[in-house]
Amino acid sequence: MPDFSIGVDMGGTNLRIAAVSADGQLLEKVTLGTKVAMGPDHVFGEMCDAIRRLTGQYRGTGSFLGAGLGIPGIIDLDTGTIRKSANLPGFSEYPVKQEAERRLGARVFLENDANAAALGEQWLGAARGVPNMAMITLGTGIGGGIVLDGKIFHGMNGMAGEYGHVTVEPEGYPCGCGNRGCAERYASATGVVRMAQDAIAAGEAPSLAKAASADAEFGAKSIYNLAIQGDEAARGVFRRFGRALGIMMAGLVNILNLEMYVIGGGVSDAWDAFAPTMFEEMRERSLVYAATAPEDPLRKHEPGHAASRTRKKTIVTRALLGSDAGLYGAARIPVL
Ligand SMILES: [Zn+2]
Repeated sequence: MPDFSIGVDMGGTNLRIAAVSADGQLLEKVTLGTKVAMGPDHVFGEMCDAIRRLTGQYRGTGSFLGAGLGIPGIIDLDTGTIRKSANLPGFSEYPVKQEAERRLGARVFLENDANAAALGEQWLGAARGVPNMAMITLGTGIGGGIVLDGKIFHGMNGMAGEYGHVTVEPEGYPCGCGNRGCAERYASATGVVRMAQDAIAAGEAPSLAKAASADAEFGAKSIYNLAIQGDEAARGVFRRFGRALGIMMAGLVNILNLEMYVIGGGVSDAWDAFAPTMFEEMRERSLVYAATAPEDPLRKHEPGHAASRTRKKTIVTRALLGSDAGLYGAARIPVL
């Protein structure tokens, strides 16, 4: 059996743990219904028990290389603590790395979950075999991660890749970060709902107003469904989404000139509705993209296929690993 490591996805609702071999085979995956509200000691107790169970099982012939923890929030890489996480309240003073290493007797690495997802897609997903890439995770906000030469680019203190907060509308919607008009205020699930509500309030979207009053769970998914059925107001919301994302992407491509940009997260399922506008904006606004765009950017990319790289085209494509990207990426860190 080859050496293996553990990846942990410390989401706000569930704790997911995977044992992955160093050559990228999933050995086992477990989901703990851990209640984050019960505090770090409780969460850590359950997490370390589960990790010990897994490592005991797979220790047979391969050695345990360590664990990577993917955390939704801002990590202090130097101290191994969580600086700020909306989903993990009560963890900010907790010595996460130190405590996990003590309990497990192994090396433990903390990583921001968006960075972990980028590394996962680079290792085993859409960007397999592509050393330089960025990932854009579209969810309630926008997560970003940049991988250079197969390793996460952290910047000075781990805060690189926050492109969800670049300005795409100078006087746009206020953002929790203190800025206005951040890309994630438009190209995210919350952005979709907000733009739809604005259109309803302005009396421009009677079809959306009708759908909203009939559906208690009216959200980004319902608006997407209307858009693909041809509803003009819903399509308009996703054009605005695509425009904001395209402006953000044009900046990224101009600055980074990477081989590949992988778009994932739950809201990337609305790809059909926003991607055409996104690609239009990128081509108009980025000289680098215009010079390197593939003939048909919407054509499905085959991962691991070398032709696109030898032709030196900028590939923007959908993620492949879904919510497992962060798990795989977290497991990759101790191997690097
Ligand atoms: Zn912001």
